Amino acid sequence: MRVLIAGGGIGGLTAALSLHAAGIEAEVFESAQELRPLGVGINLLPHAVRELTELGLAERLAATGIATRELRYINVHGQLIWAEPRGLAAGYRWPQYSIHRGRLQMLLWEAARERLGPARLHTGRRVVATSQDRHSATLHFADGSRVSGDAIVAADGIHSAVRAERHPDEGPPRWKGAVLWRATSIAPPFLDGATMIQCGHHRLKFVCYPIANHPDGTQLINWIAERVLPADTPWNREDWNRRGSLDDVIPHYADWVWPWLDVPALMRRAEAVYEFPMVDRDPLPRWSVGRITLLGDAAHPMYPIGSNGASQAILDARVLAMHLKRARSVEEGLAAYEAARLPPTAALTEANRGLGPDVVLEIAHQRAPQGFRHIHDVIPEAELAAIAARYKQLAGFDPASLNARESYSA
Ligand SMILES: Cc1cc2nc3c(=O)[nH]c(=O)nc-3n(C[C@H](O)[C@H](O)[C@H](O)COP(=O)(O)OP(=O)(O)OC[C@H]3O[C@@H](n4cnc5c(N)ncnc54)[C@H](O)[C@@H]3O)c2cc1C
Repeated sequence: MRVLIAGGGIGGLTAALSLHAAGIEAEVFESAQELRPLGVGINLLPHAVRELTELGLAERLAATGIATRELRYINVHGQLIWAEPRGLAAGYRWPQYSIHRGRLQMLLWEAARERLGPARLHTGRRVVATSQDRHSATLHFADGSRVSGDAIVAADGIHSAVRAERHPDEGPPRWKGAVLWRATSIAPPFLDGATMIQCGHHRLKFVCYPIANHPDGTQLINWIAERVLPADTPWNREDWNRRGSLDDVIPHYADWVWPWLDVPALMRRAEAVYEFPMVDRDPLPRWSVGRITLLGDAAHPMYPIGSNGASQAILDARVLAMHLKRARSVEEGLAAYEAARLPPTAALTEANRGLGPDVVLEIAHQRAPQGFRHIHDVIPEAELAAIAARYKQLAGFDPASLNARESYSA
């Protein structure tokens, strides 16, 4: 079986590695002329780290990212609402990594080059259409060329050409008014140097975590400032590489200066700032049609809440390879993959619209806008714990079930 993958991002490359590990031939067609380490920080949750570990990438991940030990929710006054251990500290058998998205992509690309061979990875190949018959599926490229194989996996991201071909009336992704300014700053560590923080409330948020250690004791610190604008504000089309301005954010965070972190000072150290509207799409009724399917953001673009975008693409890739290996036909394998992955990712897309686990920020802000003496006067501990546990269950990473679940290795 030969599987053609459109898109060499996180999902496409993990699919190539997973198919190869399952003994299935895979070939990647990426539109960028050259692969560069683009993007800022992302989080790989233990369920995704498990999959990359089973692909033999544990050491490379450990050398590239920072194993996150704790997640803290903080109000606008710098007070702690909720803290929970993460990764190994939370009892998972696998760590959680905060990592530079571009470096992760390069790591996957290198591994795919070594294992599949350079001839199986193509750059400068923009997919514009697909076709299929009873025996094969074909990718059509912008330069007029075409390539045929047994199956097509469209992992071509949020502006997926394959999804648009199938759903021409879907229109642009849904934007409800939140804009993210994303950046990295080089700065001394805050807290223990391995903690992720989520601060503020629904209309003004700040997320921050280190993604690399430097020999001089500083860290590369990823931060995201999120503001909700009136929904009728004209805004730019989503583009991961669009530059933004610090002037649009710093004034809103001017008094977020706490004994353990000076937010505006960290922002001023930014190397470059990118702006991105927070968008998603309604879940599709199906991903697989015959020999062609969707994966990752092409299948289920979701709000980047709960650190799940890249992690869910990685899960898709592994489950896809497992079902293609087990099935009696390509069509049966792609249908089984869809049946396993569409319902949970649709539920997660919905949950993220409802603020996901970040809802604790909103509850604390509503009940105590001026701050609190003790958080449990405002939100009982049981309520906080229930919110955190519910999301983990939904996203497939509560420690007990993840640790006990059978491997997806085919
Ligand atoms: C340049 C870039 C920077 C990003 N930065 C961040 C970030 O800082 N933070 C964050 O949370 N998420 C970021 N993302 C998104 C994040 O990687 C995804 O949400 C997540 O990893 C799911 O992965 P994916 O493989 O589905 O999509 P992506 O990782 O977006 O990969 C899609 C790939 O398909 C390629 N492609 C697109 N159209 C075509 C086509 N027609 N033919 C062939 N190839 C095509 C793209 O160039 C890309 O390499 C970024 C994505 C990109 C492309």
